[in-house]
Amino acid sequence: MREKSERTIYLSDCQSFYASVEKATHPGLDNLPVVVAGDPARRSGIILAACPIAKSFGISTAQRLGEALQLCPDVIVMRPHMQRYIDVSLAITDIYKEYTDLVEVFSIDEQFLDVTGSLNHFRCTSEELASMIQKKVAASMNVRIRVGIGPTKILAKQATDNFAKKNPNGIFTLGKEDVERVLWPLSVDKMYGVGSRMTRHFVALGMTTIGHVAQTPLHLLKQKFRARFGKQSDIQAEVMWRTANGLDDSPVTPGTFNVAPKSIGHGMTLPRDYTTAEEVDIVLLELTEEVCRDARAKGYTSGTVHVFCMCSPYDAPTGFSQQRKMPFATNNTLKVFKSVREIFHRNWNGHPVRKVGVTLGSLDDEEVTQLDLFEDVTKLRKLDSVLDGIKDRFGNTAIIRASSLMKAGLAADRAGKIGGHYK
Ligand SMILES: [Mg+2]
Repeated sequence: MREKSERTIYLSDCQSFYASVEKATHPGLDNLPVVVAGDPARRSGIILAACPIAKSFGISTAQRLGEALQLCPDVIVMRPHMQRYIDVSLAITDIYKEYTDLVEVFSIDEQFLDVTGSLNHFRCTSEELASMIQKKVAASMNVRIRVGIGPTKILAKQATDNFAKKNPNGIFTLGKEDVERVLWPLSVDKMYGVGSRMTRHFVALGMTTIGHVAQTPLHLLKQKFRARFGKQSDIQAEVMWRTANGLDDSPVTPGTFNVAPKSIGHGMTLPRDYTTAEEVDIVLLELTEEVCRDARAKGYTSGTVHVFCMCSPYDAPTGFSQQRKMPFATNNTLKVFKSVREIFHRNWNGHPVRKVGVTLGSLDDEEVTQLDLFEDVTKLRKLDSVLDGIKDRFGNTAIIRASSLMKAGLAADRAGKIGGHYK
């Protein structure tokens, strides 16, 4: 039974979104295996989406196109049509708004809906309403949605990823009372926000199921995290613990995309005026190390770095405030420092320095696997850059480059070469 104060939240996910949109636009493809690939002309291109028929051949998202062609030589390969996917995503969001005004876009193919107030109005159960919405989206957009239902966003999300996607009717309810019996037995890598790296850490800590994390007293989990990640990991420990317990007070907020902080920054007034480049470099490196460590502890990478500098004279300070996009997202101190140093020396007027600051912006989840990265770059907040990339290069070069570089952890100065390779 639903408690009176309890909310009813959906996380709705579009099945094989890009591939479904391609099929909806090209009716002749209905019964054929279809994939969308970042660069269809190259066997090294990455599969961005595969329809269920393609998946039945063993094809999966983030696979190389060459591998997919081996599994299914007849697979239809489409290039991405991002504008079309955005249009369909917005149209689906509009359909959801017919059922509740509390719709939050989470990614291009996922939305949160708070339907607490809608159930009375439509005089039905939460699963009946989900089924109604599902039918409406299928009929008008030709896209199948799966709906996870829960009293919090984090439970709705985990209901979708772990259960609704596997349920034949595409709907699953994960109530507070089900958490222990249904969610806790799952292996820890099935928990939202836990990627391969975090899985290894949890396993090393002896926590192999979601229940192990949930049942570790929070203060103890913080201690274990501190021992592994340093003292700034308390927040991360608490996020993991709350996720495992399904605790999440955050409301469904129309128009927002994620919960990441906008920036991480540190600045300092110097103990005395620094007059030489060498002195300033040292303090810039310290500041960079501080913000990067902070970002690593919180599990973020950064795409832009901002440097602030105030110089003498005191009565009419000079200086600058400049930011730049880094070649690719990182939280590596030396890679960030390279950009920090370049910004500083390009802009410094040579006057004695009294105050400096370094801020990381464009933060992203570090725990992105290649798959998550694709979803992430297609989030609406990044659509402009995605579209530009596609316009410029006709094939998601930016996406492929970012992911392969992040995966391989190649040095910053090799970026040009990799970029060249994919041109
Ligand atoms: Mg999806």
